Amino acid sequence: MRRLVLFDIDGTLLSADGAGKRAVNDALVEVFGTTGPIERYSFAGRTDPQIARELLTAAGLAAGEIDPRLPALWDSYIANLRWEMERTEVTPLPGIPELLRRVEEAAGETVLGLLTGNIEEGARIKVDAAGLGWERFRVGAFGSDHADRPELPAVALRRARDLTGMDFAGKEVVILGDTPFDIQCGAHLGVRTIAVATGRHPVEELAAHDPDHLFSDFSDVEAVWAAIAN
Ligand SMILES: [Mg+2]
Repeated sequence: MRRLVLFDIDGTLLSADGAGKRAVNDALVEVFGTTGPIERYSFAGRTDPQIARELLTAAGLAAGEIDPRLPALWDSYIANLRWEMERTEVTPLPGIPELLRRVEEAAGETVLGLLTGNIEEGARIKVDAAGLGWERFRVGAFGSDHADRPELPAVALRRARDLTGMDFAGKEVVILGDTPFDIQCGAHLGVRTIAVATGRHPVEELAAHDPDHLFSDFSDVEAVWAAIAN
């Protein structure tokens, strides 16, 4: 059995109680002087660069005003996120520590990784704040790799090949996430999708996007493992 198992972070592995959004809010104010319509904007399933560009475009900025200052935005965001993490309880979602161990126990041709809209350094800060162990995720595709989530599965496949020499394809690639964007992002590659309603989207809404498997949470670790492996 060959599997590339790619977890989303926010709402899937962990809950950071809004710390990420607060850190983005403060960074936008510091660097651009505006947050755009952040109060009514959903971050769920979107990449960090997508979030920044959409909010700032809505605030009336042109692309030429936004993109040159994104590196400064990420510096500010990372500093703010570290500050937030010292004051926020970041908790793994139900079943996650056990599920990650279950995937690792499979060893052999099973590779554990991340597929997330977070920029890489933000992902690292959140995963470590939840005590989940950054180093165990052997492959990653991040918002810092591409602003469009549907581009990220191919990034993960390329890195998995570079790491292992193996080509993962179709249902050997498993994407676990909490939003319709997670379910849709690998559709063009025919990947296996496992949706979980531990983020902001209820089971009924996720079901409408037709994931291969759907769970209210990941507390039944053997059932989730069966969905990955069978
Ligand atoms: Mg998520």
